[in-house]
Order: sequence, then C-alpha cells, then structure tokens
Amino acid sequence: LIKSANTKPEIAVRSMLHANGYRFRLHAADLPGTPDIVFRGTRKVIFVNGCFWHSHECQWRRVFPKTNATFWNDKRMKTVERDKLNERRLSQLGWGVLTVWECELRSAELLRDRLVSYLS
Ligand SMILES: [Zn+2]
Repeated sequence: LIKSANTKPEIAVRSMLHANGYRFRLHAADLPGTPDIVFRGTRKVIFVNGCFWHSHECQWRRVFPKTNATFWNDKRMKTVERDKLNERRLSQLGWGVLTVWECELRSAELLRDRLVSYLS
C-alpha cells in the first residue's frame, strides 16, 4: 500500500519523460529504496511520491485519516525516515536523487522544466 509501483502520478511522470525523449529503467530493486525511475548511464534516479504518505509540505499532508490516526501517522513518520535514509545512501553511492511530488503534476510545465533541468 505504502510503497506501491505504477501509481497514477508515477505513470504521468513517465509519460512526460517519454514525450521529452528520455529513456530509463523502472523500479531498480538493486538500489536503496527501489527508485521508481532510473537513468543508469548518468546515475540519476527519480522518486515519485504521494504527498500524503510521504508527508510533503503541502496541503495534502494535512488530510488526516478519520480512524486509526495514530497508527497511520506512525507509518507515515517511518516512511519519511526511510526516504531520508535511502536518499543518503544513494548519494553516498554517487547517485543523483530527485523527488517528484504528486501535487507537482498539477502544473505540468513547471514539472517538465524541473525534470529537464535535473536530467541535463
Ligand atoms: Zn504535495
């Protein structure tokens, strides 16, 4: 549930990258955190994160579940800690890391610019 592959935002980011001529691998299980999108040649990865689960500093993380709030908040805190750890490990291994947030898909042009500048 928390770390699910092929989510809607992920597919949208992949389409955007394809449309701009980029080629890449998916879900590299040999790398910390199993990055969603992987550019092996240039050693760059992209994570596409849901704002709620990964506690993005945006309006969506303030959506709280009505039941079992403590349980879910605990899970989300662990997810954030794991994200930080994975990012640190990837950097130590010489990989570039970009996190794309679900909410960024609402402004496609800004996101495309951010992707292109990260990958160039
Ligand atoms: Zn967000």
